[in-house]
Amino acid sequence: MIPFDYLKPATLEDLLEGLRSANGEGALLAGGTDLHVKMRLGLKSPRLLFDISELAAARNIVEAEGSLRIGACVTMSELMASPLVARLAPSLAEAARSMSCRQIRNRATLGGNIVTASPAADSVPALLAADARALIVGPGGLRELALAELLLGPGRTALGPGEVLLEVLLPLPEAGHRSLYFKVGRRRAQAISVISLAGGLSLAADGRIGSARIALGAVAPTVMRARQAERFLEGELPSAVNLAAAAALAGEECSPITDVRASGAGRRLLVEAWTHRLLQQLCATSGDDAGGNRP
Ligand SMILES: Cc1cc2nc3c(=O)[nH]c(=O)nc-3n(C[C@H](O)[C@H](O)[C@H](O)COP(=O)(O)OP(=O)(O)OC[C@H]3O[C@@H](n4cnc5c(N)ncnc54)[C@H](O)[C@@H]3O)c2cc1C
Repeated sequence: MIPFDYLKPATLEDLLEGLRSANGEGALLAGGTDLHVKMRLGLKSPRLLFDISELAAARNIVEAEGSLRIGACVTMSELMASPLVARLAPSLAEAARSMSCRQIRNRATLGGNIVTASPAADSVPALLAADARALIVGPGGLRELALAELLLGPGRTALGPGEVLLEVLLPLPEAGHRSLYFKVGRRRAQAISVISLAGGLSLAADGRIGSARIALGAVAPTVMRARQAERFLEGELPSAVNLAAAAALAGEECSPITDVRASGAGRRLLVEAWTHRLLQQLCATSGDDAGGNRP
């Protein structure tokens, strides 16, 4: 590993100034569970590491201005323990719970999980299904971007030089909205997802599906929304036929690759089967307040 300097800026202003002075040779260190691995493998060799793990401006979880605002440096363990996340974004809490082991969850941050831009990143399906937005700060000030637009491909984001993901904003779910997250791996712990999926659904007063959100992980270059399946469901009755047809559409619209964990064809079948299960569970529970979702 190439030697590097380590800095821990006390404030956001110090961090931005440090990044500016580093002139592209600095890297942000949050939990380090991705970055350290890449540095040891020689895939990244920053001259300066800026430790942001305790940066106050990115450490809060609050409900404000119609959003659940989660700091980028909040860890997976903190997401799991947060009553606000449990109430307003239970699928995100479940995604955090599904990650790796306690030691990793105690270090790994939400921001690091997003910026790593892995198609299998566990938090991202739950965030995309919630229409999350990214609050970014950098040399040009603050800007907001739909999370889907931040993720460009494996390991690639729309963050510019010197930019920092500060917070993730989740619009508050409407009354009666339900959300779920499923991770399908080759074993129950310490496994990268073969596929993952998150869904959110609400039923209208007449029993029809009001809104439907389905996000799929590890089946495309980025985590993706199953838009055709969503459009098919909205305004329809949650009948067995409709749920099965939407699940089939989700299987068709993803573009999974074959790798060491599964074949592309196998992943497509998993998407169809698990989307069906996801929709059945969302419809079975939609409208009541059991299970930690929004009353
Ligand atoms: C043993 C092991 C098991 C794992 N299991 C899983 C798993 O089950 N599911 C899963 O999804 N992932 C898993 N991971 C990957 C990793 O733990 C997660 O992606 C984690 O959330 C990364 O967060 P971090 O805080 O450690 O990021 P870091 O390693 O600190 O940073 C990752 C990248 O993001 C950048 N970055 C970090 N924060 C910001 C920010 N706020 N703004 C801009 N850039 C930023 C860094 O500069 C770096 O390039 C695993 C890793 C290991 C080592």
